[in-house]
Amino acid sequence: MYETALRLLEKIGNYGYVAYMVGGYPRDLYLKRTYTDIDICTDATPMELHQIFSEVVTTNSEYGSVTIVFEKVKFEITTFRKEFKYKDNRRPEKIEYVDTLEEDIKRRDFTINTLCIDKNGKQIDLIGARQDLDNKIIRTVSNPKISLKEDALRILRAIRFATTLNFTIEPKLKTYIKKYGHLLKKISKERKKDELDLIFSSPNKAYGIELLIDLKLTDHLEIPNLKKAKITPSMIVTWSQLDALDKYNFNTIEKESIRKINEVKDKNLLDNHTLYRYGLYTCTMAAELKDVDKRLLNEKYASMPIKSRLDIALSPIEICQILNKEAGSFLKPILTDLENQILDDSLENDKEKLTTYIINKYKKENQ
Ligand code: ATP
Ligand code: MG
Repeated sequence: MYETALRLLEKIGNYGYVAYMVGGYPRDLYLKRTYTDIDICTDATPMELHQIFSEVVTTNSEYGSVTIVFEKVKFEITTFRKEFKYKDNRRPEKIEYVDTLEEDIKRRDFTINTLCIDKNGKQIDLIGARQDLDNKIIRTVSNPKISLKEDALRILRAIRFATTLNFTIEPKLKTYIKKYGHLLKKISKERKKDELDLIFSSPNKAYGIELLIDLKLTDHLEIPNLKKAKITPSMIVTWSQLDALDKYNFNTIEKESIRKINEVKDKNLLDNHTLYRYGLYTCTMAAELKDVDKRLLNEKYASMPIKSRLDIALSPIEICQILNKEAGSFLKPILTDLENQILDDSLENDKEKLTTYIINKYKKENQ
């Protein structure tokens, strides 16, 4: 990926423009962490990038950046800019392209996100990114008072980076986070949820949650229950304690998981019926809340006589044959009865035993 990125910078350079890797990738490379995507900044405009890369460019019109796939790797390329007249404390109303990297760096959020790499692989550090990376400090590029007012999402980004990198937030920035926490109300719930997801899925989440509480953000984020939430590894278990289904947008799987975790959390997870009805995933999630040993839960699940209706040693068709009847609504209570008996260990899941049970209990009443 790195070599591909250098070739991309070289290519843009061949057309007479300058381009650098910037943001998360140089930061994570410096910290020897695993990285995700590569952000590039350049003095070429989106139109000029279209000319250089003809068929491979998609323009993200809202933000004026372009995404390209170069040698099978995806890059997000943003033209040097300054952003001014922020509206709603989030989006710049107008973007103005600028000529130099220096000016582009000034509009970025945190110093640690301003380290660049040029086409020769050389680090460009204009405002002391490496010093703050070495000292593990999150500091805004501009005055925090102005920076957070311009874009209140930076409040959550600061906490997200502090959490995932295990960095401290500079005291003055902390002060303004507390002061301007209310501006988070103006930020879209999608953006807030993305950041909260990253905080809640970090192995260092306890620190992130502590910051959210200490910096008095839980009410502004409409998650007051975070203060009493139990800190457990899974993101979804954290969300399940926050009563946030009507506050943020969750996908269908998340919604279902949250609903089920809350339903099962007061039940005995090691009970066959609970495991059968809710499945291993939900019970494992709920186990985090109840300090039930996950290994024990796995063992219990593995030893269950049946895990679904398909595991019953007698099929619905076979039951119909035994009872000499066409399939119908009478089957449902019979299957439920079999499930319960088997799960209670009062009936062995064995074809012959089940057949005898059906004959004795149901043959007469169904004739
Ligand atoms: P990640 O590892 O999550 O990708 P990142 O630092 O690359 O972290 P991105 O959201 O990909 O974050 O943004 C790329 C860069 O754009 C950032 O490093 C930062 O320089 C700048 N940036 C992103 N969001 C903001 C913002 N809200 N305000 C100012 N600069 C921003
Ligand atoms: Mg990035």
